[in-house]
Amino acid sequence: MRKPVIAGNWKMYKTLTEAKDFVEQLKGKQVDSSKVETIICAPALFLEQLVHAAKDSFISIGAQNMHEEKEGAFTGEVSGPQLKDLGVSYVVIGHSERRQYFNETDDSVNKKVKAAFENNLTPIICVGETLEQREQNETETIVSNQVMAAIEGLTEEQLIQSIIAYEPIWAIGTGKTATADDANDVCQAIRETVLDSFGEEVASSLRIQYGGSVKPENIEELLSKEHIDGALVGGASLQVDSFVKLLEAG
Ligand code: PGA
Repeated sequence: MRKPVIAGNWKMYKTLTEAKDFVEQLKGKQVDSSKVETIICAPALFLEQLVHAAKDSFISIGAQNMHEEKEGAFTGEVSGPQLKDLGVSYVVIGHSERRQYFNETDDSVNKKVKAAFENNLTPIICVGETLEQREQNETETIVSNQVMAAIEGLTEEQLIQSIIAYEPIWAIGTGKTATADDANDVCQAIRETVLDSFGEEVASSLRIQYGGSVKPENIEELLSKEHIDGALVGGASLQVDSFVKLLEAG
């Protein structure tokens, strides 16, 4: 059975003081880590202190991006070895905001995914279609192509460890959620794409999250679907109470 994984994506929100306060409060909640895996993907600035604050708790800490090179003259960037050295475990790769505003491509996403594994970081690989692509019935083709490009060259073991986040771009931060059935259909299409190339064991182990306006009111229905194994959550991950409700649904 695939354990649900709920990851908060804080984007460029919170100060360090607020971030530490959040983790301290969350640590005090009763969350059954045998039933749900909890990740907080925080701004790079806070990672060291949050790793420390979350030590020996059910919470894992992730980054929101990384550079594909180990080191170099890349002003303002953060590398895999730097993240690993801080004790970070996960890294979001290819979020649609990074594809849209920072020119990330399927090719750079693939390089970053490989760099994540070189540094023992687990990638949360984001894919998703625009509204226009959905209206033209291209969703499954676009998303399957993004997945194949992102995982090109990975070993079976690496793919089993990876997390894929299906996030329709039109549903992110808009309050519009894909219906649970639509989200499940796309997650199923992703699993079938992986099945074709990597076989049954990998496809049935791979965890696929849905993301896009996930909130306490819709999490249960989403998680009840066969192919949805968790959620990548922006807005509703910023308040302890709503985030805990999402974890309780896991
Ligand atoms: P949202 O963001 O939950 O605020 O829609 C999701 C995401 O960007 O990962």
